[in-house]
This record gives sequence, C-alpha cells and structure tokens, in this order.
Amino acid sequence: MEKRCPVDQSELQSQGKDWLCPTCATRYRVQGRCLDCGAEMERLQACGASNWFCPRCNELKSRARVETQLVPVRE
Ligand SMILES: [Zn+2]
Ligand SMILES: [Zn+2]
Repeated sequence: MEKRCPVDQSELQSQGKDWLCPTCATRYRVQGRCLDCGAEMERLQACGASNWFCPRCNELKSRARVETQLVPVRE
C-alpha cells in the first residue's frame, strides 16, 4: 500500500521500519491503535508480512480492527 506524507502529500519511501518523505525529509513510523479497546498496538514482522498485536486484548488483530496513523519520528 502506498503511503503519503500528511504535510505535502509526497510519496513516502520505505526505510526499514520507517518511512521517509523525500520532500520535507521527515521520517514517519506507522502506529496502530486497537479499534476494540483503544490501546496502542505492537507491530510484529514475520516472513515479510506484518501483524498487529494488542497487548490489552492479548491477541493478534486483523487489519480491519486496527486504526493506523503515521507519526513523525524525532530523534
Ligand atoms: Zn513531507
Ligand atoms: Zn485491544
């Protein structure tokens, strides 16, 4: 799935776990929130596929139960 910078709508480039905007040089990370309980979720990478795990529900969630957003990384 294609991701775009929320500021300038540029197409983001994949950089390991992060996404880089070539226009404003901002790095973003995808953060997931559980639609069932509202908790912040952990992203699990396995064999190229990514799954979302909710620590509060204590179970893996399907994409449809996860609200994802791009959060700027400041380091
Ligand atoms: Zn940008
Ligand atoms: Zn949950």
